[in-house]
Amino acid sequence: MINNLPVKTLAHKDLTIEGYSRDAVQTYWRIPELKLGFDLGAQPWSFMGTPTWIVSHGHMDHLVALPVYVARRRMMKMDPPVIYLPEGAVEPMRRILRWFNRLDRGRLPCDLVAIHPGDEIELSRELMVTVSATTHTVPSLGFVVWQRRRKLKPEYQGLPGDQIRDLRLGGAEVTAEVRLPRLAYLGDSSPAGLDACPAMFDAQVLIMELTFVAPSHRKDKIHKFGHMHLDDLLERVGRFRNELIIASHFSTRYHPNQIRQHVEKALPGMLDGRLHLWL
Ligand SMILES: [Zn+2]
Ligand SMILES: [Zn+2]
Repeated sequence: MINNLPVKTLAHKDLTIEGYSRDAVQTYWRIPELKLGFDLGAQPWSFMGTPTWIVSHGHMDHLVALPVYVARRRMMKMDPPVIYLPEGAVEPMRRILRWFNRLDRGRLPCDLVAIHPGDEIELSRELMVTVSATTHTVPSLGFVVWQRRRKLKPEYQGLPGDQIRDLRLGGAEVTAEVRLPRLAYLGDSSPAGLDACPAMFDAQVLIMELTFVAPSHRKDKIHKFGHMHLDDLLERVGRFRNELIIASHFSTRYHPNQIRQHVEKALPGMLDGRLHLWL
């Protein structure tokens, strides 16, 4: 194992969340079971096998490793990756890849796909991602990964199997799609971006930013810069129905012990043990 960048790992049910995120340093996440990653602020060597990535916004510490990731997959003879980006980031990134191609003389095959608020990304038959607008200093997006299942419609439940079969043979649509929100990724955002996507409060796992935690750091200023403060979390404690809430993207102004102290003082129960600090 080549250990070139920090990666923290946490398992929840059948999902493993891996990544690292500090404000202005670098942000990268992946969930191997979903074959999906979020943000490319850096690219740990161990992450290259994940074939699909979604980028939340164009800030360098969330995006700058995209060429490295594409080049590595080509070098290792893996399929070109699919990378979803906010629309405004696609053309600049195509140009950057062309310039790297001139410097490096290596091809950089990848599929860059523009995404917008309201889009639905089909990952597979079972998995899809919804896209929402978040509120940051540049255009930015948040995401919810949904698991889809076909379920018998309520009016047909309790019927014997042969009757359902006959209905189906007769052309009736006996099942409907049911969507379960498995994981949400907020990216960088002020609270308005979280509030704008209620499914984020329902997802089994929520990965959210919590850049500022000290009471002395002013909330209005933090919101203007498109970030969250610990007070914003406190104001919403009753709304989080998530099984696991990962708070991350802490400012480099804080030592990890300070972050723990501030959060544990404000939330002694750590939201019934559901709140996890990504430190
Ligand atoms: Zn950031
Ligand atoms: Zn940012």
